[in-house]
Amino acid sequence: MTLPLRPELIGLEPYGAPQLDVTARLNVNENPYAPPPSVVDAIAQAVRKAAEGLNRYPDRDFTALRADLAHYLEVESNVDFVEVRNIWAANGSNEVMLHLHQAFGGPGRRVLSFAPTYSMYPEYARDTVTDYVTLPRRDDFTLDIAAAQAAIREMGPSLVLVASPNNPTGTALSLDDVHGLMAAADDVEGGCVVVIDEAYAEFRRAGVPSAATIIPEHQNLAVSRTMSKAFALAGGRLGYLVAHEPVIDALRVVRLPYHLSAVTQATARAALAHHRELQAQVDEIRAERDDTVAWLTDQGYTVAETDANFALFGPFEDRERVFEGLLERGVLIRVTGPEGWLRVSIGTPQEMALFRSALLEVTA
Ligand code: PMP
Repeated sequence: MTLPLRPELIGLEPYGAPQLDVTARLNVNENPYAPPPSVVDAIAQAVRKAAEGLNRYPDRDFTALRADLAHYLEVESNVDFVEVRNIWAANGSNEVMLHLHQAFGGPGRRVLSFAPTYSMYPEYARDTVTDYVTLPRRDDFTLDIAAAQAAIREMGPSLVLVASPNNPTGTALSLDDVHGLMAAADDVEGGCVVVIDEAYAEFRRAGVPSAATIIPEHQNLAVSRTMSKAFALAGGRLGYLVAHEPVIDALRVVRLPYHLSAVTQATARAALAHHRELQAQVDEIRAERDDTVAWLTDQGYTVAETDANFALFGPFEDRERVFEGLLERGVLIRVTGPEGWLRVSIGTPQEMALFRSALLEVTA
């Protein structure tokens, strides 16, 4: 039987990194710490309460969750202008991104990003029949803003998508860089929405501001976040976005009705109420990240400047061999980024000790 599969999907594999049961799973930038018992209890209680009403559809507009997210952004990123109408959320920031492409992409339209970057970006574009175009990052993985501005003005993308901190490099954008992108986006005939994907924002070093702080100055700037990383809630699937109301209203049009289950809403709200406890784990991960970067540098590796919970390091003549050698020793990392580089997610101190000893053995 022939299936009428879209030609561009023929032969493609579904996206996803290996899910292997090894000692140190350091390949998908998860938070290595399970939610603490107080948070587990709060989530269990909230879900129990939600279960009593599961015969009904959930709050389609998830107003209480949006209010909690607005409050969290105020505390975490010093953004005090955010109201419920400025917040969007979906099942992971992956779904938020898909909504953005459904609303602002589409046939005959273009999304511009900067390589190397998150490997799902071309998939959102493919799935919404949007053209995906990349410009290369500089050798240090920062953006060449003059080149980006020229490309935006010349190509007229309807979406510009930049991860900050970037995956897999860890590179954060300065506010000057964001203003620079916005200046060019404002010149695009027909409009251009610039999305800063801040999935790893909470891990940034002190003094690196969130792009959300300058949303009041830019009508077409949107900042996406997730609870998958800092909140240790990758399994809960909750991503969100902050933007001006017209952007949010456009996303409301393309979402499926009741896309956020009552269980998801309850889980996310319970975790948000405990963000201070979860922040302590983030601080530990940042410290471990800085130690890992220092150790790798001491070993003679080049390590990309990172504001995230992972580090890209190299160069290796044969990175596959190093990846396999680590895996044989119970350490799963990621072969990603430019040829010769590897990415390691930051785990617990014990996991990182295993990573270090395994790397020493493999490269001895
Ligand atoms: N953006 C970036 C840059 C990511 O690395 C990831 C996850 N690896 C996501 C978005 C998606 O995360 P989630 O859907 O879990 O929110």
